[in-house]
Amino acid sequence: MKRKIAVLPGDGIGKEVTRGAVEILQAIAERYNHEFEFQYGSIGGGAIDETGNPLPEETIEMCKASDAVLLGAVGGPKWDNNPSHLRPERGLLAIRKELDLYANLRPISYYSSLSEASPLRKEIIEEVDLIIVRELTGGLYFGKPSERTTHEGKEAVVDTLFYKREEIKRIIELAFKVANGRRKKVTSVDKANVLESSRLWREVAEEVAASYPEVELEHMLVDNAAMQLIRNPRQFDVIVTENMFGDILSDEASVLTGSLGMLPSASLSIGGPSMYEPIHGSAPDIAGMNVANPLATILSAASMLRLSFGLEEEAEEIERAVRDVLDAGFRTRDIVADGTKVLSTTEMVAEVKASI
Ligand code: ATP
Ligand code: MG
Repeated sequence: MKRKIAVLPGDGIGKEVTRGAVEILQAIAERYNHEFEFQYGSIGGGAIDETGNPLPEETIEMCKASDAVLLGAVGGPKWDNNPSHLRPERGLLAIRKELDLYANLRPISYYSSLSEASPLRKEIIEEVDLIIVRELTGGLYFGKPSERTTHEGKEAVVDTLFYKREEIKRIIELAFKVANGRRKKVTSVDKANVLESSRLWREVAEEVAASYPEVELEHMLVDNAAMQLIRNPRQFDVIVTENMFGDILSDEASVLTGSLGMLPSASLSIGGPSMYEPIHGSAPDIAGMNVANPLATILSAASMLRLSFGLEEEAEEIERAVRDVLDAGFRTRDIVADGTKVLSTTEMVAEVKASI
């Protein structure tokens, strides 16, 4: 079976890291006898320069016709002063919408050989293995009204936290499915002592839990969850939460691993192709220097194999190769510790490839 992969390198280090991930996917295709067809599209600042549009129609069509999308990163100082419709980030929001991406999954794993890269003590982060499942289509980011206004003649402002029951249900169901394949624990994070939306969230979580008797459900208030993530992150298996809480908690959780350059993500679609991308941005400060860490994107490609193609063994092979390369002491600049071998982007890719 041929699988079509749409590759959107984007700007800055996005180009370098997607090139690396494609090489690894090609190595997997060869080793396991799969056929992957790569098609390239433009998005972000480069797309603005070429077409005047951060997400050209051609790119949308190509992505919709693909089986999965691999994205690098968008943005850079060149476009920072553009009017808002000509901002690279617009391309990212638009592609999420076009592809109906409703869930963002961020796995946070511990790498024993990187324990020094985290500001947290080894005893705390050791063996951490959790996934944050963040809702992407609702909440404060899209609720209307969202505007400057007046109240009793004085300046005021309003944002709206809006959710449809259906949106809550599908994200919680996904979290239970994910947990079912792991350690079977879901922590649903909300602010039910204050927010009406959180009370519905809890109600729906309880309903969904009834269909998964083998999975444990716990509720946690978001402020407590923020503390627990740093105090005792090992207690978590799958965390599911609404859009803004998920945004904040997933950046917080990234500290557990140590470097932005290590963290993959998957954004799942309601019915079409899903999208895989590193958590980091286009890193203009190191763009084009061949020093970026490609592992976040390579691990995102592993998630693609697992979640979009059902190729669990192949995904694990990439994850194993990454672990082995780190254990052997190979590092990119962002995760360097004393006495380690510092590799360029292309050298790191070559090490992972050699290990497959
Ligand atoms: P965005 O707004 O797109 O999320 P950002 O402002 O959060 O971007 P990044 O582009 O993620 O910033 O970069 C933050 C810092 O981390 C920079 O100093 C950058 O060089 C570094 N960095 C990010 N990704 C990597 C990587 N893959 N390898 C090495 N360093 C990285
Ligand atoms: Mg950022």
